[in-house]
Amino acid sequence: MTSPHKAKYPVDAVIGITYNCNSRCVMCDIWKMEPHELMKVDDFKRLPTTLRDVNISGGEPFLHKDIVAIVRTVRERLPKARIVISSNGFSTKLIETRITEILKYVPDVRVGISIDGMQEMHDKIRGIPNGFNKCMDTVDMLKRVGVKNIRLAFTITTVNVDHFSKVYDLARQKGVQFTCAFAQSSDFYFGAKQNYENPDPKLLKDGFRYVIARELKSMSPKRWVRAFFANGLYRFATTSTQPLSSRPGSDFFYLDPNGIIYPSVVHYYKMGDFKTTEFDTLWNSDEANSAREKVTSGAKQYWMICTARSAIRRHPLAVAQWFVKSKLFPSTILA
Ligand code: SF4
Repeated sequence: MTSPHKAKYPVDAVIGITYNCNSRCVMCDIWKMEPHELMKVDDFKRLPTTLRDVNISGGEPFLHKDIVAIVRTVRERLPKARIVISSNGFSTKLIETRITEILKYVPDVRVGISIDGMQEMHDKIRGIPNGFNKCMDTVDMLKRVGVKNIRLAFTITTVNVDHFSKVYDLARQKGVQFTCAFAQSSDFYFGAKQNYENPDPKLLKDGFRYVIARELKSMSPKRWVRAFFANGLYRFATTSTQPLSSRPGSDFFYLDPNGIIYPSVVHYYKMGDFKTTEFDTLWNSDEANSAREKVTSGAKQYWMICTARSAIRRHPLAVAQWFVKSKLFPSTILA
């Protein structure tokens, strides 16, 4: 059954294409999940054309044998969307083969490589010996083959918080971008791993101050927005509140490798089965509306780039005000 009132259509999505993963991260149990029936390449031809940002994720997405065809299909369906592939970066050769093919169809594809600390710290968190060096090889390879937009993605945990600024500096040295997130708990994503991270407050504040101050000094508005996002992430970590309201299940969705759509990676409310249902029907179904109501009435707080991006776009004034205040009165940053 469908609702007579059409829901707002999404602009942002994380699309998990496989749970298969060759990492052994301490904050995620996806790699322990059983094999499952994957979506077909043709399913991606039915994605909503309103999407402007698509994050191809996993598991490790480059392990999917059809990743080239999937990314190509997403681009053909969504010619204006920014496409980023989030990878653990461990399989340099395999990634090189597949990204070289992808670049033929999506020359502006973006790639994020997870780096959770320098050298042994990264290897310890990711559970892969020599993992850090493999990732650095992958970053160098991505630059060589012509990926223009590369980012190091840092996941903050209790044990690596003192590496926050070091990985930021590494990104700057490598001439690539830097993003950060917390290891959040989810009832289904991360293999339902529960993360109760409580990093040392002083180290956390020092790390965020370091990153925010440098991002604000840049001449790039994009980096100022990143600074705003980081400011919000710190606030979320210390007060469990989100700086702007976002709308998972309306502006955003998570499509899992089984074809099930959820409002986000932390909202375990099924909206529908994309494999068997047209998106329009699914998005306006009672099940989807019920999931949205649960998101709205629930107490769960979150601040993730996937859901925050559209919230930031809807509140440019709040971002501008924070930017001006932080530039004029740097002592107010995280005060
Ligand atoms: S966090 Fe990513 S790389 Fe690590 S086990 Fe989970 S899916 Fe794999």
